[in-house]
Amino acid sequence: MMVDHWIGGRRVTSPVRFDDISPIDGSVLAHVSRACPYEVDLAVDAAERAFTDWRRTTREQRAEYLHKIADGVEKRIDELAAVETSDNGALLRSHVRGVMPRVVHNFRFFADWLVDEVSHPDFDTRGHTNHVSWDPAGVCALITPWNAPLMLASWKIAPALAAGNTVVLKPAEWSPLTASLLADITAEANLPDGVFNVVNGYGVETGQHLVNNPKLRRISFTGSVPTGRAIAQAAAANLVPASLELGGKSPLIVFADADLDLAVQLAVEQYDNAGQVCLAGVRLLVEESIVAEFLAGFLTRADALKQGDPRDPSTDVGPLVHRRQLERVDTFVRRAKAEGARVLLGGGPNTDLGGLYYRPTLLADVQPGSEILTEEVFGPVLTVQTFRREEDAVTMANGTRFGLAATLVTGDEDRANRVTEQLVAGTVWVNCFFVRDLRAPFGGSRESGIGREGGNWSFDFYCDVKNTVTAG
Ligand code: NAD
Repeated sequence: MMVDHWIGGRRVTSPVRFDDISPIDGSVLAHVSRACPYEVDLAVDAAERAFTDWRRTTREQRAEYLHKIADGVEKRIDELAAVETSDNGALLRSHVRGVMPRVVHNFRFFADWLVDEVSHPDFDTRGHTNHVSWDPAGVCALITPWNAPLMLASWKIAPALAAGNTVVLKPAEWSPLTASLLADITAEANLPDGVFNVVNGYGVETGQHLVNNPKLRRISFTGSVPTGRAIAQAAAANLVPASLELGGKSPLIVFADADLDLAVQLAVEQYDNAGQVCLAGVRLLVEESIVAEFLAGFLTRADALKQGDPRDPSTDVGPLVHRRQLERVDTFVRRAKAEGARVLLGGGPNTDLGGLYYRPTLLADVQPGSEILTEEVFGPVLTVQTFRREEDAVTMANGTRFGLAATLVTGDEDRANRVTEQLVAGTVWVNCFFVRDLRAPFGGSRESGIGREGGNWSFDFYCDVKNTVTAG
């Protein structure tokens, strides 16, 4: 199969292509056009031209387009789910039941939110009226990773388009397929040409050229910290606002007063998507008095996880996305073992399955300050550490350069409030995990990112907010 760019409402090919390979069996899924500066500039120019008319549409008209796109996604959920699974190896059942319905919701939510919620009452200053408006900003570059390709893309596309902007999406080179299908869906929804554009290619080439383009008015990026830095530099050079949703090394803290069953269940959930989840609570911090009981429950449950083909409905843990990712994960685990870490579960690739399957892994007795406690592994690798005092749990939880999320399991509400207040994290879950509401702010502190998206935060980012003062 050939996959080409989507620019100005038509398919555009590049003279050079790259192979898109399935993590399930190593087969070549597609030969994908690899955008050089010419195609990137073509896409930005198409988006800039389309902006002139798109910005003049009403909120209601744009909401109608977004609902039509949502309808198109909804009709093709099974196809999109199957394609995404073949492309990034995440579980088919999660794509069908959770991820693709969330894509639909992203489009519907931002369409309705703009129409119903984005407003501020006028106010008076000595007989003058202040009126706040949210003007479209212009062309937005959206750059996304491979771990939840269409979900993360739609999380940016929907508010950007709803706000009246036009976009150029650069999906990750390891999972470009659903972005291309989304282009077809936007065409079926009669979205005007050039409002939504997709360019494919490598990050350091296509992505870097895109973010350097001086015609951009916004850059929204989800991905790793090093790429976030490169994008922040490009954005700084052109003084373009950039939203950065970056990596994490989140803690999951279990206090002795916790519901132990719940704590075990939440801890085992951290292996979802083979641990390739930015928000995963990969550092298990467990109060010393209950660690033996916790580990007994955890190991029983984690040992029962079934690893295998992500298309099989009985599979719990699929493959990693790419050979390079498997090597990266294994290198971290090998180095931790060499430093004396004890393997309580897994500890290497699943040789029974071959390919890119890495066994769910739990490491104990990890050296304080070791990289396995501070660097993002992005695979099914958890560590367990113990603490005696609440303040030690907080210090350990905050002991990385990241601040994306934290999960607390405790039966004591006062403790939950005390600890939450001290945690450095964009999202704190108390006795739950991964519950998301699109009205809520989402983003990271410290090196986990800059800015928040969701609800009004998205519109504040994707718009030029204007205050008009009129003499009474
Ligand atoms: P990555 O940073 O390698 O790549 C992400 C995207 O950026 C890809 O499309 C890539 O092609 C592009 N890119 C790479 N270099 C670029 C450059 N110089 N200029 C412009 N674009 C460039 O990340 P990844 O490996 O695809 O994804 C995994 C990372 O994403 C992890 O760190 C994970 O924590 C993070 N992530 C964060 C969130 C969040 O919401 N905070 C969500 C999912 C994933």
